[in-house]
Amino acid sequence: MTDAGPGMILTLNAGSSSLKFSVFEPGAEPRECAHGQVENIGGTAAELTLTEGTRKTRLGIGRAHHQSALQAILGQLAPLLKGRTIAGVGHRIVHGGTAHAAPEVLTPKVMAYLATLEPLAPLHQPHNLAAVRAAIAAFPGARQVGCFDTGFHRGHPWENDTFALPRRYYDKGVRRYGFHGLSYDYVSHELARTRPELAAGRVIIAHLGNGASMCALRNGNSIGSTMGFSALDGLPMGTRCGQLDPGVVLWLMQSEGMGAVEISNLLYRESGLKGLSGLSHDMRTLEAAGTPEAAQAIDYFVFRIRREIGAMTAILGGLDALVFCGGIGENSAMIRARLCEGMDWLGLTLDAAANEARAPEIGHGRVRVLVIPTDEERVIARAVNAALQVAG
Ligand code: ADP
Repeated sequence: MTDAGPGMILTLNAGSSSLKFSVFEPGAEPRECAHGQVENIGGTAAELTLTEGTRKTRLGIGRAHHQSALQAILGQLAPLLKGRTIAGVGHRIVHGGTAHAAPEVLTPKVMAYLATLEPLAPLHQPHNLAAVRAAIAAFPGARQVGCFDTGFHRGHPWENDTFALPRRYYDKGVRRYGFHGLSYDYVSHELARTRPELAAGRVIIAHLGNGASMCALRNGNSIGSTMGFSALDGLPMGTRCGQLDPGVVLWLMQSEGMGAVEISNLLYRESGLKGLSGLSHDMRTLEAAGTPEAAQAIDYFVFRIRREIGAMTAILGGLDALVFCGGIGENSAMIRARLCEGMDWLGLTLDAAANEARAPEIGHGRVRVLVIPTDEERVIARAVNAALQVAG
């Protein structure tokens, strides 16, 4: 602790070319003071944006890697910290493997284990760990806490954990991990806080953003997720393919002569809404475009989600609530309307006016339909807050 007040909490969410951050004041419930991101890391013209209340700062920082991006963030945060230190840094870590579910202090031993998982999440895990190393260098006295996107699903049933491959692959870690756990953690806790009777029942949460997945919950626990071994499976996403017959991958190798790097690029960066529309990964652009290809990309997105609503309702043995979150789930009245169309057989009927007005509750059937804005950074900040309290 410094004279200026207790140390602050920084949260980091590192992608391959971006570093999102938030600063929280610790307390019984952490209070967000600022947030922002550095984009185009690895390119020649990285840019930092910082939002602090109504004040927005935009700054070109030239060529940047994760460590220099963090230094640039720190430079902008200095006035905000008013002499206070960063006491804890919380990191979104995409993969906790089989060993880590709950948030944990990132000791050298934990980091060594997480590095062994890099081959399981090659497009996310190395960048997450690079941000941890950068944060250790920048804040040597701070607690570094890892929050795992896989953690929320670790208790799901074996049938949802496995693939029908010979068992030795399961033992080697080829499992259905499921992701977006921090978002499901936040939304399910909000549901429990505001509508406990629903949270105790059968719920589907649809996290629909650039990355998209759905989770089936019984009594607040994940019993199934659309994402699997990697963050590619399940729903089509901005640039990711979603569910794909593995025979397609074999065909790409055998008939198209494509290697792992090319296929990875195709499935992670060139597919999904972008691949189908030939236009954009961005739902707003597709909604405005009016081309037949953009319309078909939206049709496929809607079709796959409706199919999963049916499948998840079956494994839940019925449905009490459907909850939307993520950039598309929270903002697109059109997508929500199309997803709920003709679902009266399930007891799910959308209230068109409430949906257009983006009310928190947008259904008037037996199945409740809700929009709960997600806040993954807050989940991370709470975990750091708890770790700081333990540390005294
Ligand atoms: P990420 O997975 O990168 O966190 P977000 O949750 O921010 O992504 O979601 C981004 C998606 O949300 C984009 O496809 C964007 O077009 C979509 N989106 C945001 N606002 C709207 C809106 N008003 N209408 C339709 N789509 C929207």
